[in-house]
Amino acid sequence: MHHRIHLMEGAQCFDARPDESLLDAALRQDLHLAHECRLGSCGTCRIRLVEGTVFYEDFPVGLTSEEAQQGFALACQARAASDLVISPERRLPPCSAPARHVATVKAVQALAEDVLHLALELPPEAGLLYRAGQYVNILLPDGSHRSFSMASRPNPRSLEFHIRRVPQGRFTSEDAPRLQPGDTLLVELPLGGFCYHADDYRPLLMLATGTGLAPIKSILESLMDDEDCPPVRLYRGMRTEAELYLHEEILRWAERLCDFRYVPVLSRAGAQWKGRRGHVQQAVLEDIEDLSEYAIYMCGSAAMISDAKKALLARGASIDHVYADAFTFQSEAALA
Ligand SMILES: Cc1cc2nc3c(=O)[nH]c(=O)nc-3n(C[C@H](O)[C@H](O)[C@H](O)COP(=O)(O)OP(=O)(O)OC[C@H]3O[C@@H](n4cnc5c(N)ncnc54)[C@H](O)[C@@H]3O)c2cc1C
Repeated sequence: MHHRIHLMEGAQCFDARPDESLLDAALRQDLHLAHECRLGSCGTCRIRLVEGTVFYEDFPVGLTSEEAQQGFALACQARAASDLVISPERRLPPCSAPARHVATVKAVQALAEDVLHLALELPPEAGLLYRAGQYVNILLPDGSHRSFSMASRPNPRSLEFHIRRVPQGRFTSEDAPRLQPGDTLLVELPLGGFCYHADDYRPLLMLATGTGLAPIKSILESLMDDEDCPPVRLYRGMRTEAELYLHEEILRWAERLCDFRYVPVLSRAGAQWKGRRGHVQQAVLEDIEDLSEYAIYMCGSAAMISDAKKALLARGASIDHVYADAFTFQSEAALA
């Protein structure tokens, strides 16, 4: 028993059994659908159901019930309940096909107590073209990988990363702090569908928590000195003042971005802090009455993205203009 799934664009088809997700079925038949976490949290695999119905074993956190009612589904969790016609959501600017390269460590330094700045260089023949917002997989000798988002304006050879130390984390706590200039790492890139959508020309509202700043920084650096840069509001969530790495540098972005506003929001600020307190999404709701005109980019933990998405949609944000990148844990992704 299987159902026939038609893709609106490209006139391609594949079959899906009721016991497999649409994404698994498509990949099994060598048909690529954009995807990322495979946990139903990041939203990259969102599709529009043009005809037919799907069901979920567990309703995914990355989809709101309003989105489901409007005919959206997450391909990594949805199963076909009938034949379907689906439309993959977003068309993306071009980038290189993912490939493996040996990268050389150029520098490792502390940005904050628990965040490292890692600079890598690719060999000249890599010929890399990636979109601001994409990520790399660092391949470890045991065959596992760890994902990190590029943190600077796209460059064919130089890559920068912000790596937060995860307690007991094998790569972030043990391997990364010991890296030295000249060491090599096997990497695979470019990966991921999170990126700037120039065709979605609207004021930009960006929410970043923790090292979720990295892909947002890459996007914003790619817009610097660009006269087509839309107005930008960046809400950045951290716990304490000490964690606000690159704070001074971000303040200076106002000189190179059009109409740039930066709002750091601390959830555990000390008594001296005169800025905003709480969570980023609360600060956005306090400041902006109607979110319907914004293109919204969010990056950070899956929990923040899920909460923020619900809150912002309830305040008028349009689901067609919300882009999110969830930093899921590799160990969870491996189990999915
Ligand atoms: C697409 C993508 C992009 C990412 N980009 C970045 C980035 O730019 N910067 C960055 O700092 N991180 C980023 N992450 C998260 C990063 O991949 C993980 O923090 C990293 O894999 C942890 O590896 P580890 O070997 O140190 O931990 P592991 O040894 O794999 O895990 C140790 C323990 O920590 C838990 N754990 C693992 N990761 C996390 C986490 N992120 N938060 C809390 N607990 C965790 C595990 O469940 C396990 O219990 C990204 C993740 C994804 C999916």
